[in-house]
Amino acid sequence: MPPHPETWLRVTPEGLHCLPGGFTIDPVRPVGRAVITHGHGDHARPGHAAVLATPETLAIMRARLGEGRAGEAQQAIRPGEEVVQNGVRIRAAPAGHVLGSAQICLEWQGSRAVVSGDYKRMRDPTCAPFEPVPCDVFVTEATFGLPIFCHPPPEGEIARLLRSVALFPERTHVVGCYALGKCQRLIALLREAGWDRPIHLHGALMSLCALYEQLGVKLGELRPATVADKASLRGAIVLAPPSAVADRWARRLAEPVVAVASGWMRVRQRARLRGVELPLVVSDHADWPELNRTVDEVGAPEVWVTHGRDDALIHAMAKRGIRGRALHLIGLGEEEEDAAAPRPAAEPATAEGAEA
Ligand SMILES: [Zn+2]
Ligand SMILES: [Zn+2]
Repeated sequence: MPPHPETWLRVTPEGLHCLPGGFTIDPVRPVGRAVITHGHGDHARPGHAAVLATPETLAIMRARLGEGRAGEAQQAIRPGEEVVQNGVRIRAAPAGHVLGSAQICLEWQGSRAVVSGDYKRMRDPTCAPFEPVPCDVFVTEATFGLPIFCHPPPEGEIARLLRSVALFPERTHVVGCYALGKCQRLIALLREAGWDRPIHLHGALMSLCALYEQLGVKLGELRPATVADKASLRGAIVLAPPSAVADRWARRLAEPVVAVASGWMRVRQRARLRGVELPLVVSDHADWPELNRTVDEVGAPEVWVTHGRDDALIHAMAKRGIRGRALHLIGLGEEEEDAAAPRPAAEPATAEGAEA
């Protein structure tokens, strides 16, 4: 009988640690051996000795953290490949979250656990779609683990943005979005919707867009958004980090229409308090139906929830005979940019998911 994953996969202060393999997945502190699911700051941290991740995630880590801090030894694993570490078989499967994002599939002595990292099931033209992998324990996030979170199709949200641009051709539409993943997904969706004019970017978004292009994701013509050039930005779409949208930078644009693209925009009160005129519900995290569907598809009798709204998900799974366990991993769901933005007092801080 294969050993239960809880005997060989443990929660430590560094994160989820594989005992026989001697590595930690998405560690929050520097470790000897790290396996990284994707490039967001709460998962890919600096200072590990050895890093195993997809080639795209390694490239994103080098770009964001600097060559020296992105792992002294970097090893790439592509979906479909297998790396064996002290008898533990490691494979990567697409997570559909951002470019390079991967679920880490582990097998030891016939016992299988899949650590999904962050994921979503809705279509994203900038990354490979999530692949359900059967396992004994599935490890999931629950950023949007409440029944109220039911995200609309992103194409409809992009259509709302383009309708507003058509309605207010004299105004500059500035869209707050996270620099890694959300920004490039919005650009790709705008291109699919037929927007072939240049898209203007706040300086903080330029380098990751260039990296996506290098990695083969076509984004069309991108230009730096210089506020000095106010007149030429009338009628334009400008993408900027959420923090820049809230501050004076955005107010210096021509009669800006302030939009933010995030799963959190489903909470209207949050949009209002942040002064967002055009909230766009575009999420890179699974919503409530996607979380439940995914858990059912992987067919694991037991599901561990890393962070987010674990109680509602665990309750819903229990009714279907799936054993749920809250891991309460620290440091996840805390991405830098949204954390700086004002948070409505009525919402608990623990529910924040910046790169949502
Ligand atoms: Zn993420
Ligand atoms: Zn995350």
